[in-house]
Amino acid sequence: MDAFESKGDHPVQKPERAPDEIFLTLDEALEAIRLDFAQYAPQTGLFCSLVPLVFGDQALVTPGASRDELWLRIGAAGRPERLDARMLGDILVARLKEAPPPLEQLAAICYRVFHGRTRVGEKDGRRGLWVETGMGDFACRRCGHCCSALDFKNAGTAADWARFEALGRQDILAWIAPVRREGRVVACRLWIDPATGCFTDVCPWLVEETPGRFACRIHEIRPEICRQYPGSRKHAEMTGCIGFRRREFET
Ligand code: SF4
Repeated sequence: MDAFESKGDHPVQKPERAPDEIFLTLDEALEAIRLDFAQYAPQTGLFCSLVPLVFGDQALVTPGASRDELWLRIGAAGRPERLDARMLGDILVARLKEAPPPLEQLAAICYRVFHGRTRVGEKDGRRGLWVETGMGDFACRRCGHCCSALDFKNAGTAADWARFEALGRQDILAWIAPVRREGRVVACRLWIDPATGCFTDVCPWLVEETPGRFACRIHEIRPEICRQYPGSRKHAEMTGCIGFRRREFET
């Protein structure tokens, strides 16, 4: 979600700077790659470019006769295997988990996957990778895309529910369905129109201040998912956020 802040009666924009680098251990980096591949549509160009990095120079991937078809050959004497991009992503992830490469090589892979410079380093005595998120260059343009086009239905947390309850915000709670397990709220669904019982297409707290320029009416207490969006340059690029196209923005 976007970075808005209420100041008096007038919501104003305030880009929130997330850390520009995150630290990942080898296992965390492999899991982040798996999630990236699973989260986004098959990234055919990326997957093909990773083949030599993951399998070595002798591996070769070539396009097939149809748009979705690829042929993968591992090793000079290997038998070509027919697959599609999603299968290639699965094969790459499986290979990385089976035979994790040295951190230097994994850094080169992460650089391509996450679109951020990656270096080998350590944190709290653990070796791993520092991956640049690019968030230092982010500036919300208040286009409202994230609040109107992205799917956040199942992204509400127990902490969101507890925060709105503690604040006595029945007006907000009325638009949320808590998910309970053994009597405890463990998650929540956002946003459900109390009049219809149906999920809304657009966040109900979004307001268009001037044509094409939006603000959030609950910015200071907005759900965690909204605070975390976008998590990185890649996340923004893959989900249609324009906050990285240029640094300056209108005020
Ligand atoms: S899509 Fe990006 S630029 Fe647009 S409102 Fe959301 S965070 Fe801001």
